[in-house]
Amino acid sequence: MASFKQTGSIKAFQAFIATVYALPDDRLYSIWDLLSQEQRFSMRALKGIRKQDIRKVKPNLLIALSWLMAIANRLHIDAEDEVWSRFPMRCSYCGKLPCVCKAKKVLARTRFKRDDARRPRSLRAFQQMFNAIYPPEHRTLADAGVHLAEEVGEVAEAVHNFLGRHIENQFDDIKVEIADLMSCIFGVANSAGIDITRELEKMFSRGCHVCHKAPCACNFSEVSRLET
Ligand SMILES: [Zn+2]
Ligand SMILES: [Zn+2]
Repeated sequence: MASFKQTGSIKAFQAFIATVYALPDDRLYSIWDLLSQEQRFSMRALKGIRKQDIRKVKPNLLIALSWLMAIANRLHIDAEDEVWSRFPMRCSYCGKLPCVCKAKKVLARTRFKRDDARRPRSLRAFQQMFNAIYPPEHRTLADAGVHLAEEVGEVAEAVHNFLGRHIENQFDDIKVEIADLMSCIFGVANSAGIDITRELEKMFSRGCHVCHKAPCACNFSEVSRLET
């Protein structure tokens, strides 16, 4: 049975989501359905933040991440490669570790070289990398949530733009926005004290977290009624 292991990389998690969900996703879900599910669970995570209920933030954040992987799979985008290309152990904007954007009021994107030897090998190491670039003590959990909402909107915008006009560099925008949203998902997790790897391992120990089958056999209306 397909499962996600705690040593797994982001690539391994994306591949796991393909193994379990590509079949129902390809048959039942348009890209807009995938996007609205990713948005739906991100907003549910925000509700958890507003109510200061981390138990509500946790599953919804993980399910939002899973739908984001489904979007990346549909568009044949490697989320881990995009995260590393955007955040190579430094802030994507100021180029510093930790980020000094706020403290130094950085106004323009800095160009810098990437050192591939520092690339994290596991999803857990990527979460630690984001903790080092964007230390949670520099923001509140609510701020992290607002930033998450902003990036959810930007992924939707990028997909709409590309699928409307089919211009190559608009496809590149989708890759960047997926990386930015991943950074915010890690950001909320770091602010809320959620160990994404440990939670994914618990949630996905046997195929789909609801029906425990691979491929998932949940039907469309069950998914739309899922309470988390
Ligand atoms: Zn910065
Ligand atoms: Zn299922």
